[in-house]
Amino acid sequence: METMKRTATCGALRKEDTGTSVILNGWVHRNRNHGGIHFINLRDRYGTTQIVIDQDAEEALRQQAELLKFEYCIAVRGVVRERPDTMKNPAMATGDIEVAASEIEVLSTCKTLPFMIDEESDAKEDLRLAYRYLDLRSEGMQRRIRLRHEFTFAVREYLSREGFYEIETPTLIKSTPEGARDFLVPSRVQPGKFYALPQSPQLFKQILMVSGFDKYFQIARCYRDEDARGDRQLEFTQIDIEMSFVSREDVFRVTEGMFGHVFEKTLAMDLPAAFRRITYADAMNTYGSDKPDLRFDLPIVSFDAFAQKSSFNAFTGALESGGCVKALVAPGCAGYSRKLITELEAAARIYKAKGMAWMKVAAEGFEGGVSKFFNDSFDDITSALNASEGDLIVMVADSWLITCNALGAVRNKLGHDLGLADPKRFEFCWIIDFPLFEYQEEEGRWAAAHHMFSMPQARYLDTMEADPGSVKGDLYDLVLNGYEVASGSIRIHDPEIQKRIFRIVGFSEEEAEERFGFLLNAFSYGPPPHGGIAPGLDRMLMIISEQTSIKEVIAFPKNSVGVSPMDDSPSVVDAVQLKDLHISLDLPDTTETD
Ligand code: ASP
Repeated sequence: METMKRTATCGALRKEDTGTSVILNGWVHRNRNHGGIHFINLRDRYGTTQIVIDQDAEEALRQQAELLKFEYCIAVRGVVRERPDTMKNPAMATGDIEVAASEIEVLSTCKTLPFMIDEESDAKEDLRLAYRYLDLRSEGMQRRIRLRHEFTFAVREYLSREGFYEIETPTLIKSTPEGARDFLVPSRVQPGKFYALPQSPQLFKQILMVSGFDKYFQIARCYRDEDARGDRQLEFTQIDIEMSFVSREDVFRVTEGMFGHVFEKTLAMDLPAAFRRITYADAMNTYGSDKPDLRFDLPIVSFDAFAQKSSFNAFTGALESGGCVKALVAPGCAGYSRKLITELEAAARIYKAKGMAWMKVAAEGFEGGVSKFFNDSFDDITSALNASEGDLIVMVADSWLITCNALGAVRNKLGHDLGLADPKRFEFCWIIDFPLFEYQEEEGRWAAAHHMFSMPQARYLDTMEADPGSVKGDLYDLVLNGYEVASGSIRIHDPEIQKRIFRIVGFSEEEAEERFGFLLNAFSYGPPPHGGIAPGLDRMLMIISEQTSIKEVIAFPKNSVGVSPMDDSPSVVDAVQLKDLHISLDLPDTTETD
């Protein structure tokens, strides 16, 4: 190997290197024989270089080239030469040159590939994951893993410069309060006892504040046993941040500064110095979502006044039962077929709307759908909704929450269908003034909307028990292009307020003591006021690399049922291991066989 150690990478050589003798190491990406000339695309992490074995090369070398298959790992010695003008490839960084080979060494061979190493690979997901080491060789995965590194590096650079310490917290802990199911790890030396894997470092970062580390961060792995979806995995990574002696404004400033730095470093893109702020209520009313996609406008508008005056029972009935009616203008969609309208309605129904009314805007009046109920108010409605000829108006009448959510889903679908959601635009916004509590219908009780350690806004402190539903929290989300990319809050550091919150969410003192006693105890030793935030790293990377699944930015993700087809985890363990852990299995009956 010593003699054939690389002198350049496959992405490095340019016209200026013409005449240089080089050795390249890499993988055979393509190997073509054009009329007796071999063209090999040799690939490594840095790029691809064209290797040429000329017609007049030694016969042994030509025969060797003939035998090179996809993904053989080889070393090539040769001389850099400029390609003839007609053969230059401006799409390749090394496209002006090629290397005329004089010696090839096969470092290792490769079996027949299960799929081609290619970004456009349409190989089934499980196959990609089973051979993840091959999938990771693709240009797209290599680019995204590099982006991940650069992004995390820039985060560390910014936060360290701002005086933050990176501190690791344990992964074998007592349960954390993020509200998902815990992964449990049995203790061998403490029979019958279990550690939980952290759903986030929440309690530890708050304790670090008590310890005086007033600016903390961690690129932290979090574990939540919940259904995997496009933007969720059982294990994922957060940029976990906590600060002492701060208000919401300080947390916002650090987060904005951090993403400003990171976007400049990784995407050469300037972000606004401060992000827009929208209250939860405005976001729901105007965009039908607490994670609005602000790359397009399409506002939702109240239709109550027109519904009230109409004789359309479905609308007046909704108003009488305390609900509302809202409308959304689909610009230029008057030509939508019945089928397309039904598809929009299907989006509304996912969010429990009983139906979606519609009418088309023509020159003189409304047409189709529910138009006959509203033609009398044509001018008023079109001006209130800013609608014009050729538009489609869709409406939902239901409880406030269902109406907002349903039209929010229609709005998102329209944004995508009409091509308004430009993947290269990044629209951040803060959502503020969230309710602190959410009513759990099934359980008939109040629950914390974020987690139980978030501070109520000061003006609600006197009325918290009397009217939990009206309490706004000192909590916030950061939203990017329709995704929640971070949430955080100013925390409670006053044990009395903490106890009141536990009481409102029906958490007995014993239970609170049992689960979080150590935190409450720490809070009796001079805790500083503090707050923080935790941006999701995978989700951010997914969005900026224009993907729809976080698996595309994680080196070794699990599939949708939590399995890693490559190393076949989770897997059965042998009886001795279980015995050591004092565990016996009580498996459900299953008719499935392997
Ligand atoms: N621990 C919270 C979460 O994971 C974030 C925070 O409040 O800092 O959502």
